[in-house]
Amino acid sequence: NVRSELLGLGIPLVQHTTQTILPIEVLRSKTNTPYSVYTPFARCWNEHLNQSGLPDLNDPKSYSQLTDPLHINGSEIPQPSWSHTAWQPGTTVALQRLNKFLDGPVDEYHLKRDRPDTNGTSTLSPWLAVGSISPVTCLRPLIQRYGLSIDDWPDGPRVWRQELIWREFYRHVMMTRDRVSQNLPMQDWTSNVPWRSDRDVFQAWANGQTGFDIVDAAMIQLKKLGWMHNRLRMVTAMFLTKNLLVDWRLGEMHFAKHLIDYDFASNNGGWQWAASTGTDAAPYFRIFNPESQASKFDPDNTYQSQWLNGYSRPPQMIDLRTTRSFAIKIFKEAKSGFDANE
Ligand code: FAD
Repeated sequence: NVRSELLGLGIPLVQHTTQTILPIEVLRSKTNTPYSVYTPFARCWNEHLNQSGLPDLNDPKSYSQLTDPLHINGSEIPQPSWSHTAWQPGTTVALQRLNKFLDGPVDEYHLKRDRPDTNGTSTLSPWLAVGSISPVTCLRPLIQRYGLSIDDWPDGPRVWRQELIWREFYRHVMMTRDRVSQNLPMQDWTSNVPWRSDRDVFQAWANGQTGFDIVDAAMIQLKKLGWMHNRLRMVTAMFLTKNLLVDWRLGEMHFAKHLIDYDFASNNGGWQWAASTGTDAAPYFRIFNPESQASKFDPDNTYQSQWLNGYSRPPQMIDLRTTRSFAIKIFKEAKSGFDANE
């Protein structure tokens, strides 16, 4: 294995657990089973934290952050398809971003986190994804401010903590369910959904040419910036898997290729949530309408015009109402077909 190969070369292997705040693989329900629903997982996670406290990052036997980050010059890193200066590598930049966020925006996080037209979220995901910053480092200042118990936290910080727990939840699901890494849906019955793999339809979505402004702006942002706001990841993923009925795995792969914060567990979790195939997913009949999402979360068109500026707009490629009803019908049939064979 890797350890013995390295030892043969005289290189010791030092392992650091930086991926999660708690040892999530050991969290179990009262019936000693892994969690498949977020809310009870989060409850257990918070109880565990209250008892154990935050891990000490300086204890090498505990959960330690890479205190001595690799010294790689930014210019040595291969250039990605998107070119920009938004994402500087390294822990120092990540810490600056964290401090800036904790110095104000976190207090309004619960109000602004769904608004792509504001800078309401931390945008720390790229650094968290590669381990430049530990989630323990993110949470520690808030624990110092408000204590361990989430019940005592004000709304903004509390909701942000819950998002960090979503990250831990998807890792827990990945570590305890083989299906996640086998390219399979968590809900067996959804294997019956006759997903489409029409290349032109998929390309229209991927290239921001669906004719739905919010979807296209988000897909253009993804290509240009390598990042997309969480609300829009949900909107674009749902549009692809429900209105277009395209296989969620194609969308998952596209995001994996383009996201700078690509993270297998969170990406798979997000896609399976949107496609209603996941363990704690959106019910198949609750389909986002991209137009009402746009009026709710980008009411002045600020976000959409920023990313669509200079692009000619195609006509809308589908009718929202017809495709929505069709998707619900297809999912219903897939479920009853499966239930009948059980
Ligand atoms: P903030 O709102 O500031 O949240 C802080 C941190 O909590 C994030 O950096 C992230 O690590 C974690 N977090 C927040 N929301 C979620 C969530 N819903 N699920 C899991 N963790 C969360 N996140 C990734 O890091 N990598 C991915 O590849 C990824 N793919 C996604 C695909 C889809 C279809 C969906 C719906 C979501 C995906 N997410 C992914 C989750 C989420 O969109 C991003 O973590 C978030 O947008 C990052 O922005 P932020 O750092 O400003 O988050």
